[in-house]
Amino acid sequence: MPENTQDKLEDIYKEAAYSHINTGDETIHAKRITGRFRTYKWYASALYILFFITPYFRWEGSQAILFDIPHRQFHFWSLTIWPQDVWMLSLVLILLAITLFAATAVLGRVWCGYFCFQTIWTDWFTWIEDKIEGNPIQRRKLDNTPWTMRKIRLKLFKHSLWMLISILTGVTFAAYFADVYGLWHSYLTLNAPLIAWSVLAAFIFFTYVFAGLMREQVCFWLCPYARIQSVMVDKDTEMPTYDISRGEPRGKLRGKGSDARGDCIDCHLCVGVCPTGVDIREGMSEGCITCGMCIDACDSIMEKVDRPKGLIRYASRKEMDGETLPTLFKRPRVVTYSIILLLSMLGILYGLTHIPPIELSIVHERQPLFIQMSDGSVENKYTIKAVNKTPEDLHMRVTIVAPEGIKISKRENAEVILKSGKIIPLPIFLTARPEMLVEKQTPVRFILESIEKPTMRVEYESVFIKGR
Ligand code: SF4
Ligand code: SF4
Repeated sequence: MPENTQDKLEDIYKEAAYSHINTGDETIHAKRITGRFRTYKWYASALYILFFITPYFRWEGSQAILFDIPHRQFHFWSLTIWPQDVWMLSLVLILLAITLFAATAVLGRVWCGYFCFQTIWTDWFTWIEDKIEGNPIQRRKLDNTPWTMRKIRLKLFKHSLWMLISILTGVTFAAYFADVYGLWHSYLTLNAPLIAWSVLAAFIFFTYVFAGLMREQVCFWLCPYARIQSVMVDKDTEMPTYDISRGEPRGKLRGKGSDARGDCIDCHLCVGVCPTGVDIREGMSEGCITCGMCIDACDSIMEKVDRPKGLIRYASRKEMDGETLPTLFKRPRVVTYSIILLLSMLGILYGLTHIPPIELSIVHERQPLFIQMSDGSVENKYTIKAVNKTPEDLHMRVTIVAPEGIKISKRENAEVILKSGKIIPLPIFLTARPEMLVEKQTPVRFILESIEKPTMRVEYESVFIKGR
């Protein structure tokens, strides 16, 4: 082995003395290295830029994506989702949950390793820490030295940047529920409502504490997903795995006798780079978020000692046991998840393409069901409940389709103005001569149609009650 490689390995062995397996009693200072999985992690991180910029997108003069809680509407570009369409939300939740299950069944906790807010924010926070306070050894030294002006300056700078990210996170989250420019103005002029301050305070606190102070402890002790993941993975799931048959017996690569050992040179770099402080060589751990950093680390070592890469690699238990992995669509879990995914996607697609511009329901008065008029006719009262989901007020006409003899009795109620986004109950009366009706209950169809746009119409079936 070249001398400079031996020197580099000596350095790595020295660093190994600082790499501890996480027992939760001290902060993990993971070493940052470059590599394939590190690059994937940066790509995934970059997706979160969308989280920060989305509230600034505009559509026809308004915020493109807005959860308008006071008006109970969700605006998504040109689409407005009303409480009546909220059933689609259940499908969206099913879709997200099943996507997570499917991804876990195939690639373990890939969500945790690359996409989870906790992991991404922690990654940013520790990157800042690394840039300001130095590598893990320097950081640990700094933590253990007495307070000096330098230490105060470094810590102040780091915590200020953490606080800045926490504030931006809080404001951005709140901006999904209120117009972003108005929100910034209200925060900067200290005129924000109490709820806006509460959301901001909660987000600053949780971002700062979870990503800055608790870090991997959240994954270990607070996240329920770590507990339930074991039921989602099976022998076919591919996860970062240490190849025991190749690596053992492990031993330091020094002097003679090394050749009899396995490929693991016991450098501990895989532990040193692990953001949750796991030793992957000890088998699957609750703390492993499948980020692949140990793969990058071990590959770099294998390159140095001139051994094939992949001592730690994405592999399934079956693969490690020498069995053949079934193709993706022969795995019952994957097939089941895919079918549910497809059904929920179709449901959402159907819902989005069939949102009616007007939602109509007609409530028949129950107390009394009918009134016997002095001229012998019978009157039924109904309440029209229509929601105008369009952005403008609509001038509507109410008509009925019913057997001869039943008619709308109060003409002034036959035309209505439906205010945009409002549900205004409107009474309407029907009368009939009882001798003209055969059945005790006669079907009646109400039609509500726009006077200006006759194609915009909705119908509702009800009944006329003849009385005694
Ligand atoms: S598995 Fe690889 S990185 Fe980990 S101790 Fe062994 S050689 Fe080093
Ligand atoms: S063991 Fe490897 S894959 Fe798992 S969290 Fe640690 S570095 Fe990431």
